[in-house]
Amino acid sequence: MKKFNEVDRHIWSDGVLIPWHEATVHVLSHSLQRGSLVFDYMSIKQTPLGEAIFRMDAHLRRLFRSCRLMGLALERDESELAEAILETVRANPGARVVKISVLIPSVEIDVVPRDSRVSVSIAAYDPVADILDRLPGEPVAKPDVLRLHLERHKRQRREDIVSPEAKVSANYVSSMMAKSKALEAGFHEILLMDAEGFIAEGPTANIFIVTSDGFLRTPPEQRVLRGVTRASVIALAEEMKIPCFEESISPDELFAAEEAFMTGTSASILPVESVDGHKMGTDCPGSVTVALRERLIKIERGEDPAFESWLTYVKEAPA
Ligand code: PMP
Repeated sequence: MKKFNEVDRHIWSDGVLIPWHEATVHVLSHSLQRGSLVFDYMSIKQTPLGEAIFRMDAHLRRLFRSCRLMGLALERDESELAEAILETVRANPGARVVKISVLIPSVEIDVVPRDSRVSVSIAAYDPVADILDRLPGEPVAKPDVLRLHLERHKRQRREDIVSPEAKVSANYVSSMMAKSKALEAGFHEILLMDAEGFIAEGPTANIFIVTSDGFLRTPPEQRVLRGVTRASVIALAEEMKIPCFEESISPDELFAAEEAFMTGTSASILPVESVDGHKMGTDCPGSVTVALRERLIKIERGEDPAFESWLTYVKEAPA
């Protein structure tokens, strides 16, 4: 049996670039068996000055925060990892995204690892050509507008279990179960709730609503993963003079909203057409969603000097 996609790329593994198929861990490793892998995922944009990583610093800060929340002892500093990311992107032409993983490779018995040393890997790849196109089964077209299902029965975002603020692999298994049922029922995506029954976020994206008064609202950051796209939208709203509030949103408030959209590194800003069959507002996408999305795309293309600092140019390493 072929074990891994034969992709002609190199992965940075604890300081060395190794072939894609050699970047493996033991089946009994702590991170695989206990779900303790912390990761982050960022995008590479095409700009007139060449490739640039979108908000690399913010993604790295979140990676360190996730490690702190999960107690992973990451001994490298942010500038070291930033340099390693750039080296990995340069070594993998045509890559569109970067995934950085921090894991405990030790084979352990207990939930608390005796050997808690971590291993860091950085992969830069094209998610479509290198992964999606090589998977078995029919490809699923990416929707332009989302039909959402609200997962009301299981409260999945629970600070008392695993902090939703940690981007740790264990946080994704409950979404996997809830989302697979929703996909079978014809929805594109699900929304998860917090312990109090407020809207939290999707499995890999944050949610915003636009109220009938034109206010932008998104759930508070303690209840969700602090999405970098979410933070970007909040900053853009301020710049564009759209009042924006981070506060709890009840299901009724979601259904009464004029517009809704989800944000994420993969999704960018994706309009919500309906939730459980209930159509959102009058137009989809609504005007606020479109205005924010257009501004974000301009920034990502390097065409907006006001937000130039959000781009880290890859360039060639000096000879
Ligand atoms: N929530 C969760 C649970 C996620 O996994 C992601 C994807 N990283 C997001 C929100 C969106 O975050 P970002 O905008 O940084 O991609």
